[in-house]
Amino acid sequence: MSRGNVIAGKERIDTGRSIFDRRDPADERRLLVRHSLANAADVDEATAAARNALPEWAEMQSPRRAEILHRTASLLEAQADEAANEIATHAGKTIADARAEVARTATLFRFFAEQARSSDGEIGDAEETGTTIFTRREPLGVVALITPWNFPLAIPARKLAPALAFGNTVLLKPSPLAAVPALRLAGLLAAAGLPAGCLNVLVGDADVGEAIANHERVNALSFTGSTKAGRTLIDRLASKIPVQAEMGGHNPVVVLGDADPRTAAELIARGAFSAAGQTCTATRRAIVEERIYEAVRHELIERTKTLRLGPGMSPQTEVPPLIASERRDTVERELEHALQQGATLAHGGTRPSGDLAHGAYLTPAILDRVQQNTDIAQQEVFGPVVSLISATDFDDAVEIANNTAFGLSAAIVTNDLHKAMEFVTSASSGMVHVNRPTVGSDPQMPFGGTRASSHGLPEQGKAASLFYTHTKTVYLHV
Ligand code: NAD
Repeated sequence: MSRGNVIAGKERIDTGRSIFDRRDPADERRLLVRHSLANAADVDEATAAARNALPEWAEMQSPRRAEILHRTASLLEAQADEAANEIATHAGKTIADARAEVARTATLFRFFAEQARSSDGEIGDAEETGTTIFTRREPLGVVALITPWNFPLAIPARKLAPALAFGNTVLLKPSPLAAVPALRLAGLLAAAGLPAGCLNVLVGDADVGEAIANHERVNALSFTGSTKAGRTLIDRLASKIPVQAEMGGHNPVVVLGDADPRTAAELIARGAFSAAGQTCTATRRAIVEERIYEAVRHELIERTKTLRLGPGMSPQTEVPPLIASERRDTVERELEHALQQGATLAHGGTRPSGDLAHGAYLTPAILDRVQQNTDIAQQEVFGPVVSLISATDFDDAVEIANNTAFGLSAAIVTNDLHKAMEFVTSASSGMVHVNRPTVGSDPQMPFGGTRASSHGLPEQGKAASLFYTHTKTVYLHV
């Protein structure tokens, strides 16, 4: 199958240019799709299309825009199985996670449809007699959206739905590793009535991302991906246009001495190994009070031994492959480096044989007695690897938890409500979970981090309207 780029409402497939062959991460002998990648001329054309479509879309009454977003959600729900299978195959996720992603995407469209309909503002009397003041939220213009492969439908939707709801037009650049779900979204939005040019999808690598982000006719950028790429874009653009960036994490779960070791192990395993650890909020460090360290370690190893590795499409699978074997190789190198720096491998970190030998698999790895200042405890490893770190007490655990450059998500496992609330206030992260894994977020609430994990306003929730619009204050004298 060949796929192209969507510009001014039409998908153009031109295999005579640079192409990218996406292989099945569960069995890389199998070709899934051949993408014809966008070039500089496509970026110019797509930007012009987005600019031309802007006046009609921005001026459309927001309830009409909301209807299109609601219809998109309904159309997606009608093809939920197909969309979920596509995610499971292209992004290598479990079919259960893929179905959840489809459902969440529909919710995102509905949530932002309602946000568009009920856009809020301020109203009041002016000092001057006969004058009323009110605020309007107006679209920014053409926005560039750059997304990673790990939530290939939901992350584009998390940006697209508010961008469109509030009257912007869009250039979307998904990762070529899983671009087909984003192309599906473009088709659904068009079928739901989105005028041509409001959404243009350009498939390509960093060069295409840079070209759209730096384009002189682009008015804002929302990026999700690695801290390295995000930082480059922020440094170059943040003084010129509004930039929102959601980047890496090094998410800790703190386990206090009163916790049940088996419950704690379950939460750590879920946070660290679902989606093969390839979520930004995945648990990277389990910081355990020394008095239950050995018990938690034991339970975690036992639980991890039972996790079933396999293709996303197989309903029994709990740990799917990594996105591609090159990424698996990187994680293996990072593990090796951790061992050289003194960590002990307590479990996993190997390639399975037999039927799975042709996929990008790695068995979930548990590193034991990791020192907090080593690289594995400081730098994001994007795979199924968790570091166990011992803490003497609560204060020590909090200090270790906050001792990285990142601040995306953090969790605590305890029955002590007082300590849980102390952790909520002292954790230096954008999201905190109590007796839950570090992963997971609800679309109606803000999603974002602190420090090296994020830049600008958070995504989702009511906060999204602040990023995708600017406020105009109107003084009306009658
Ligand atoms: P990545 O940074 O390699 O790529 C992300 C996107 O940016 C892709 O579309 C890529 O082509 C593009 N890109 C890369 N370099 C660029 C540049 N210099 N200019 C413009 N565009 C560029 O990340 P990835 O491997 O696709 O995803 C994994 C990373 O994403 C991890 O670090 C993970 O933590 C992070 N992530 C963060 C969140 C979040 O919400 N905080 C969510 C998912 C993933």
